[in-house]
Amino acid sequence: MNSCVFKDVVIIGGGPAGMAVADRLFDLGIKDIILFEKESYLGGVLPQCIHDGFGLIKFAENLSGPEYSAIYTNRLKEKNIDVRLCSTVMEISYKKSPATAGDFPVAFHTSVSCLSKNDLSNDFYAPGGTMKIKTRAIVLASGCREKNRSNMYIPGTRPDGIFTAGTSQAFVNLHDLMPGSEAVILGSGDIGLIMARRLTLEGCHVKCVAEIDSVSGGLKRNIKQCLSDYDIPLLLNSTVTKIFGFPRITAVEICNVEHDEVNSTFTIRKDTARKISCDTLILSAGLLPENSLIQNLDSGFSSSFSGDFSIDPSSKISGDFSGDSSSKISGDFSIDPSSKISGDFSGYPSTVPSWKDGIFLCGNALFVHGLVDDVSQSGENVAEDVFEWLQKGVSNSRYSLSRADDARAENMEILRSKRLETIANAHKNTITCILCPNSCEIDENLKGGKCPKGAEYALEEMRSPKRILTSSIKIKDEDALVSVRTKTPIPKEMLPEAVKKLRQMTVPPPVKCGDLICSDFMLPGIDLIATRNFPL
Ligand code: SF4
Repeated sequence: MNSCVFKDVVIIGGGPAGMAVADRLFDLGIKDIILFEKESYLGGVLPQCIHDGFGLIKFAENLSGPEYSAIYTNRLKEKNIDVRLCSTVMEISYKKSPATAGDFPVAFHTSVSCLSKNDLSNDFYAPGGTMKIKTRAIVLASGCREKNRSNMYIPGTRPDGIFTAGTSQAFVNLHDLMPGSEAVILGSGDIGLIMARRLTLEGCHVKCVAEIDSVSGGLKRNIKQCLSDYDIPLLLNSTVTKIFGFPRITAVEICNVEHDEVNSTFTIRKDTARKISCDTLILSAGLLPENSLIQNLDSGFSSSFSGDFSIDPSSKISGDFSGDSSSKISGDFSIDPSSKISGDFSGYPSTVPSWKDGIFLCGNALFVHGLVDDVSQSGENVAEDVFEWLQKGVSNSRYSLSRADDARAENMEILRSKRLETIANAHKNTITCILCPNSCEIDENLKGGKCPKGAEYALEEMRSPKRILTSSIKIKDEDALVSVRTKTPIPKEMLPEAVKKLRQMTVPPPVKCGDLICSDFMLPGIDLIATRNFPL
């Protein structure tokens, strides 16, 4: 094991949240940062999200996932931030260590295993081996995981052909592998909707998207451009109740469900059961924050502080004590006269931090965000709070572990009100503007948009609908793909033909993000550009 080092801030996760934290902290003058990422590249899930729609809020540009990721990756490279790829954080542990933590009464120790590849073809370098780090702040930006079949309690056999939406997205977009030829998608989260379109354009027959709720969990713009555009049925109040076939799935049973909104329960209507043949079931039923490192930490503490303390006149606590998850101190204290505190008491002076205040969560590790732009913003916000924590040693941050439950409860309230709004608008006869995540509903009088583009979009949608094409093409003489998109929209009806044409094309390496791959693609004046580097 390498010797223990000290860093001001440890960031766990190199996706959009973690990169934004590092970038913003550096700009605030906090440069003693280290970021750990388990993959061999930065960006989290973004490199496989080759569709557009990213960056409209943060950069006022319509970018693909790889392009969005490249903005932050380049910033971290330019700032020479210490990024360790192929590195897995095994454990976070808390240990009192006043002497090594500057003015802080507590210090945090992380144990980190770095598993490096020697042939990394990028500008970041992980020296490998195991290292231990003491730090004043930890930011957990480890994203989320997809719910899998076990999370969804689907009975039946365990055949091949069942994938989560993200896994199937990686197959198609990164590895040029089709998961199947006839698919049913369970769950209408955004990744499921986007995969419905992607699979359709790549030649798979997507039979339906079944959604157990009475409203879709995805953005309205994605329902419009991923399902309605391709006549893919969205079956609300429906779920998969049985899986047929072995060793490969051959069909699913779908039943309607009845919701009891008052008691938040539902009943499966077995009398509505119907069998739909398919060789693939894609699960897109939501995401779970990945914060197991914190869960282990939480359970490792006793329920109270105890021990001998002395408090000096500057209100700093020192002494031998052990911390707990409830942030309370109790015990017999002896205080010197100048501190003007005397007697037995329980409770922690408000200026003294709890160990939880130095651990921050952001992005999808805190709660699942609908937009990557919001994830990045969460990273920037938490960086400001970490900065304050480092300067003042106090924190009331909504991103700290102390307040994580409050932040999640606030988010649940927002989601509840959005759901009610969706239900209220469900039967309006409008055109959904797909130009930004607001997904405004434009009525027959061209009203309803939050900006003038809504009316323009609705007019064009009625006359000649157009879409940006996003896909990927093969690298010449390599077993690899590079993602591409048209710079401007092309007629919607040309998309299937355009994807077929892309399958015949190759591009010689190297390729840089933004390179012109083909001019006059499908139509005069349409440029096809690369949206990712090859090699990385
Ligand atoms: S009308 Fe404007 S704000 Fe509304 S979805 Fe369209 S572009 Fe976005």
